[in-house]
Amino acid sequence: MTKKTKEPTLDFTTNWAYEPAPEDTKHITLKKQYDLFINGEFVKPNSKKYFATYNPATEEKIAEIAEADEKDVDKAVKAARKAFEKWSKISAQERGKYIYRIARLMQERAREFAVIETMDGGKPIRESRDIDVPLAANHFFYYAGWADKLEYAFPGRTPKPLGVAGQIIPWNFPLLMAAWKIAPALATGNTVVLKPAETTSLTALKLAELIRDSGLPEGVVNIVTGAGKTGAAIVNHPDINKIAFTGSTDVGKIIQKAIAGTDKKLTLELGGKAANIIFEDAPIDQAVEGIVNGIFFNQGHVCCAGSRLFVQESVADIVIRKLKDRMETLIVGNPLDKNTDIGAINSKEQLSKINKYIKIGIAEGAEIYQSSCAIPGKGNFCKPTLFLNASQSHRVVQEEIFGPVLTIQTFRTIEEVIEKANNIPYGLSAGVWTDKGSKIFNLTSKLRAGVVWANTYNKFDPTSPFGGYKESGFGREGGLHGLMPYLKF
Ligand code: NAP
Ligand code: MG
Repeated sequence: MTKKTKEPTLDFTTNWAYEPAPEDTKHITLKKQYDLFINGEFVKPNSKKYFATYNPATEEKIAEIAEADEKDVDKAVKAARKAFEKWSKISAQERGKYIYRIARLMQERAREFAVIETMDGGKPIRESRDIDVPLAANHFFYYAGWADKLEYAFPGRTPKPLGVAGQIIPWNFPLLMAAWKIAPALATGNTVVLKPAETTSLTALKLAELIRDSGLPEGVVNIVTGAGKTGAAIVNHPDINKIAFTGSTDVGKIIQKAIAGTDKKLTLELGGKAANIIFEDAPIDQAVEGIVNGIFFNQGHVCCAGSRLFVQESVADIVIRKLKDRMETLIVGNPLDKNTDIGAINSKEQLSKINKYIKIGIAEGAEIYQSSCAIPGKGNFCKPTLFLNASQSHRVVQEEIFGPVLTIQTFRTIEEVIEKANNIPYGLSAGVWTDKGSKIFNLTSKLRAGVVWANTYNKFDPTSPFGGYKESGFGREGGLHGLMPYLKF
């Protein structure tokens, strides 16, 4: 726990059980209540209803967030439609300049974004500061560069924007997912109505403030907050041209059904259950770091988390021993403390889902191992957990847990591990650890996963396309591929 300090510029609306390190809280101001961002200004919701957002590490209320209903969504879509007429016609260089400005302002306010992301969602400040926020800014920088180069991206074709994009995002990377959605939509000349997840709306609303300050023409980006019903209102609005959804496979299926028969375009980035495969010729210490990063990064709330570990039998004992030793060094606790490795589970609901799966794993007969670390008495926390001797038919192996829980299976041959890795409804990502380049090339072509990392894990870059196969969804975000879902030719 960090030392208690008095910070004069701090303007939190509630008392904090944890006082963040002072250098991390400079210039942080949070309002008591947040309204909807429609047509370039913050407006009250039609229903006059607000819901609370909590700090999952302290269980304290941070602020109240407006709940948008169908009328609010309609207002946002109308603003986006009107803005589209101008935005799609201004020069591509101008569009690029606006997006660069958003990227630069985000860099300037990086610390504020990082602290709020950590307070609202529970992820360690080290991750918000060093990964989420810089990557989000990089995404805007990267797509700003594409704005006036679309004819080079698609030579011989004449790309045109689609119109109004409805975008719905989850709670695990709130600001980063907003950047993944908004940046390519703007670069291609579309306008946006975006809904963040219910438990993590604050950085999207801070982004709305930043967008307002950037001078982006009114109505180009609209941010409406609320629960699933608000998301459904976006999906079902007749004047939306494209839905971009990131979230669970269950909701993805509902959305796909809802827009069947309409001419709305759709991309779905859904769940995952990735195989992380360690061969006997892998650099073992490096691989153990990769396993830890693969499953414990962001408390395991990662769609592409390496949640199924496959270790070649000959090195299984040493890998598992080293993994257990490494787990003992992980610090679980106050997400605002820079030394923390594993922060808070995002919500009470998610914590009970994880705990339910831990019970299921035990009942199924897998051997449980948890690190002996202490966890805070208050807040939503979960110890890093392993299920040893898991088998392919176990639910903990087949279903997405979305927490710091790793199943471990062993294998003898390359054919066996490919078969097991692919025998799952998901196909988002995978990891391979080996000294042999030929093995890497063999596996990358046989693993049915959108992303395969070799001798590393959870590495993200705006230039690199990301997306799934099978029940992990369709369409790609990032890179040149990420432009396509927002264009017609
Ligand atoms: P979720 O429950 O599907 O929610 C995602 C978003 O959809 C939220 O904003 C949610 O609002 C909204 N929503 C809920 N019901 C809806 C409906 N009927 N119509 C329209 N929108 C609706 O997923 P989550 O629990 O937030 O996120 C975790 C999931 O996201 C995991 O499965 C994870 O693998 C996946 N994910 C995938 C990727 C990827 O790139 N493939 C990246 C990150 C996460 P509320 O917040 O109010 O529920
Ligand atoms: Mg929250």
